Amino acid sequence: MSPLTLADVYRARQRLAGRVALTPLVPSPSLSERVGAPVHLKLETVQPTGSFKLRGATNAIAQLAEQGVTRVVTASTGNHGRALAWAARSLGIEAAVCMSSLVPRNKVDAVAALGARVVISGKSQDEAQLAAQRLVRDEGYAFVPPFDDLRVIAGQATIGLEILEALPDAATLVVPLSGGGLFGGVAFAAKQIRPSIATVGVSMVRGAAMHASLAAGRPVDVEERETLADSLGGGIGLENRHTFALARLLADDVVLLDEASIARGIAHAYREERLVVEGAGAVGMSALLDERIACAGGPIVIVVSGANIDMAVHRRIVTEN
Ligand SMILES: *Cc1c(COP(=O)(O)O)cnc(C)c1O
Repeated sequence: MSPLTLADVYRARQRLAGRVALTPLVPSPSLSERVGAPVHLKLETVQPTGSFKLRGATNAIAQLAEQGVTRVVTASTGNHGRALAWAARSLGIEAAVCMSSLVPRNKVDAVAALGARVVISGKSQDEAQLAAQRLVRDEGYAFVPPFDDLRVIAGQATIGLEILEALPDAATLVVPLSGGGLFGGVAFAAKQIRPSIATVGVSMVRGAAMHASLAAGRPVDVEERETLADSLGGGIGLENRHTFALARLLADDVVLLDEASIARGIAHAYREERLVVEGAGAVGMSALLDERIACAGGPIVIVVSGANIDMAVHRRIVTEN
């Protein structure tokens, strides 16, 4: 069915060894108490760039470097750009990152600090994408997409391997969902290993492109809007090749959250789990707190996907919630 295989995911893991963190899977006593089943958090927040995106970027760039590529580029809302910059530097090649002017300042600075060339272009992900295509055409860069790429998806899928090795009886996986590289990869690996596992994608109400596309039966655009879960913004691409099909095949449920719910997740993470988490990283906890996750009886694993939140925003949210 899928052009991805479990062997691709195991090969990705070999490329990632020593380059990305094997992240902890920690029990959450407070969430377990609340839902009456064991709840575990997979902490991608501890990756050196603050999000899981380092996995996919590293897997893609390692393969490009083997093929002799010396410069890579992407268009990114921040975390993928940061991951690309880090992975390129660790593999000894040049990186350029194209972003829209809506990307938060902390994310722009973080990419520049990693030595990448930053190109700010337009007010949407699509315009940043065009800038990246110009670098490919005019300056010989290789493009590394943020999600719709089998190498990237296989890299994110290594999270699924780690979860099921640490917790073979996991019953439900709760995964943030935007373009679907994370969800598609993790759900694919998990269901290959444990077909009975239930997978839930979580997006925000404000601009849930994959949810709208699944409802329409084909990739559709949604209006890009500001949200606390800024890393979940952007479309899935009308020419989507892989992640739409994976989400359609693998998602048992997709939950949409409003902004207040996302804020509660961020505050919960800070107070009860002692974690600084960005909006996109908090949505799994939010969904559980709002009783939006059906409990299958066994352990629930929440992928906590990233930590990169503006600290002034974080302070306001934990004060108000
Ligand atoms: C990119 C990102 C996501 C969503 O990943 P997709 O592969 O686009 O679905 C979730 N959380 C964080 C922190 C991210 O950076």
